[in-house]
Amino acid sequence: MLRLAMLTVDQIIELEVRISEEIENLEAESESTAVEREAISPDVSIGRLSRLDSMQIQEIAKETQRRRDERLPRLKAALDRIDMDEYGKCNGCRQWIAFARLKEQPEAPFCGSCA
Ligand SMILES: [Zn+2]
Repeated sequence: MLRLAMLTVDQIIELEVRISEEIENLEAESESTAVEREAISPDVSIGRLSRLDSMQIQEIAKETQRRRDERLPRLKAALDRIDMDEYGKCNGCRQWIAFARLKEQPEAPFCGSCA
């Protein structure tokens, strides 16, 4: 069976730092979006066009928020895996996930072939 190189401690630390930063960023963004959403109240009388604009902005904000909400638990789960010494292994085939892949998507629970 082909065995990919396991992650070095340095690589895991690098990824752990990235994951923690991403979680902080997402949580900070999440708070600022909540404030923006409240700022656009439907009873404020604004022109039809700007009403449409603000609806679009809200849609985009909602979509961004949805993606964040999906990503946050995955990032946190990745941190848990680091704590349990389980990080970097594919949840499917149990092989090591390539470092290059984890650099792009540090929360990835699957290797390139199982994803
Ligand atoms: Zn796999």
